[in-house]
Amino acid sequence: MGTTFDLSDGGIVVIVGSGAGGGTVANELSQKGVKCVVLEAGNTLSLDDIENDEWAMFSKISWLDKRFSAGGWHGAINHPTLPAWIVKGLGGSTVHWAGVSIRLQEHEFKMRSLNGDITGANVIDWPITLSELEPYYDRAELKMGTTGPVTGMPHLPWSADFKVLAEGARRIGYSKITAGPMSINSVDRDARPACQQIGFCMQGCKLGAKWSTLYTELPKAVETGNCEIRTNCMVLQIEHDASGKVTGVVYADSAGAKQRQKARAVCVAGNSIESPRLLLNSASNLFPDGLANSSGQVGRNYMTHMTAGVYAVMPGEVHMNRGTAVAGIVRDEAHNDTRRGFVAGYTIEKLALGLGFLSAFLVPGPTGWGRKVSGALEKYKYMSGVWICGEDLPQEQNRIELHPTERDQYGLPAPIVYKTDHPNDTNMRNHSYGQMEKIYNSLGSTEIYNLPAYPASHNMGTNRMSEKPRDGVVNRWGQAHDIKNLFVSDGSQFASSGSPNPTLTIVALAIRQAEYIAGEMKRGHI
Ligand SMILES: Cc1cc2nc3c(=O)[nH]c(=O)nc-3n(C[C@H](O)[C@H](O)[C@H](O)COP(=O)(O)OP(=O)(O)OC[C@H]3O[C@@H](n4cnc5c(N)ncnc54)[C@H](O)[C@@H]3O)c2cc1C
Ligand code: SF4
Repeated sequence: MGTTFDLSDGGIVVIVGSGAGGGTVANELSQKGVKCVVLEAGNTLSLDDIENDEWAMFSKISWLDKRFSAGGWHGAINHPTLPAWIVKGLGGSTVHWAGVSIRLQEHEFKMRSLNGDITGANVIDWPITLSELEPYYDRAELKMGTTGPVTGMPHLPWSADFKVLAEGARRIGYSKITAGPMSINSVDRDARPACQQIGFCMQGCKLGAKWSTLYTELPKAVETGNCEIRTNCMVLQIEHDASGKVTGVVYADSAGAKQRQKARAVCVAGNSIESPRLLLNSASNLFPDGLANSSGQVGRNYMTHMTAGVYAVMPGEVHMNRGTAVAGIVRDEAHNDTRRGFVAGYTIEKLALGLGFLSAFLVPGPTGWGRKVSGALEKYKYMSGVWICGEDLPQEQNRIELHPTERDQYGLPAPIVYKTDHPNDTNMRNHSYGQMEKIYNSLGSTEIYNLPAYPASHNMGTNRMSEKPRDGVVNRWGQAHDIKNLFVSDGSQFASSGSPNPTLTIVALAIRQAEYIAGEMKRGHI
């Protein structure tokens, strides 16, 4: 059994959530000798729990507590209680994720300076630059085992489906076509085996070839003797003293009993719906609008990426299910060029869905079955497909709010997740549909399916970092503008979404933040 800490130990750092942000902060702090307790709402998971079955794993690991989807996006009708696709379990969504690990680009840190005021959007620059983050990206890639020059690990082999996409992309003049970077071992590394190209990466990697905090950061943190992990522990509220300094958290333990854990500092890493929800649910006489919310920005500026799916029936057999789920990336549209009718850009990522998920998402919602879907599924082995991932502009109206009457199983107000596309998203999505049509037509496909966004797997921005306290919730270190021993350690601190998938940036920020917290503790500032 590992180290345990007393509930009354006010010298520890409490970390809420064990995913990309929380798991990384826990390991980094523990390695530096900082004592911490990770409180994770979900179950303890292990590689033995992983099954190569889409819906079985979805039911086993997804966050299915009460949530509501609202706003103008199609999900409010088609996924009314599942706005987002997030894991509730040890390792968080890094159990589910596909492993794509792209760095943000220079222009994506400067959306405001570059594009000025955009009607309907609430755009700011990041308070940090790419060059400041670069050393931490290097460390994140080394930690996660990202294929490419930093680790020296070759990219993974091209699947048949990626070869199809790459050939079509070349035919329409694209050239930025690579099988990575992916945080999946292409050779044995860090006591984990190389990928065996089995597929089902998003159901959890049975071999552990794909990086997940479940079997990397978390056990390494516990090994130091400085970290205790408590699963099935849902944090309900963050408490503070009369001066406003955070003093600990109240949580429901595995038996449902309420516990109070004292803390020297608290890191919130529950992903971008639960993190702002926790701050809002921690309202007090001193902070009537919720913790860290003097700007009114907690829960606002919710970004999911502009996403879409495109699947096409090819003239020959493809068998897209064989090989890694995301086997390659095309980045020719990822730059900022407003002549296309939108600001910023998008990536095209090959994405294999299995029969289960494809049947659910091809025509989502109540009308989603019938001749069109069954006819397409009969041609499954001929199908090729991609996921589009692009910049999603922050809008104040896209937000997480507490439901006025609905409560979850802990008695807490359930979250309502509002999302409406900005015209920039719509223009970008339509552009991507057009480009994909050209790619698949160039290969002889005449049957192409444009899919709307899936429930959001990338969730960002609801506790964003800002130079000026009035524009956001946390500063350049993820430290609350209002409360110096309260930190946000997950994707909710993103100031803009960029086009790259978020996890590599979450991990880089978490490494940087842990360095800052340990230093500030040593200096006696927190
Ligand atoms: C299917 C899928 C594929 C993806 N593919 C990619 C990809 O290829 N590349 C990429 O970059 N990203 C990908 N992502 C996104 C990636 O998984 C997330 O961006 C990342 O894991 C977010 O990290 P996080 O720390 O913010 O939250 P998470 O990793 O979601 O961790 C949050 C944890 O906090 C816990 N928690 C929440 N509230 C509380 C509370 N009150 N008390 C205690 N615990 C709490 C949750 O149970 C959860 O375990 C994918 C996601 C999905 C679902
Ligand atoms: S294809 Fe590779 S990364 Fe994906 S689940 Fe299989 S072994 Fe893991």
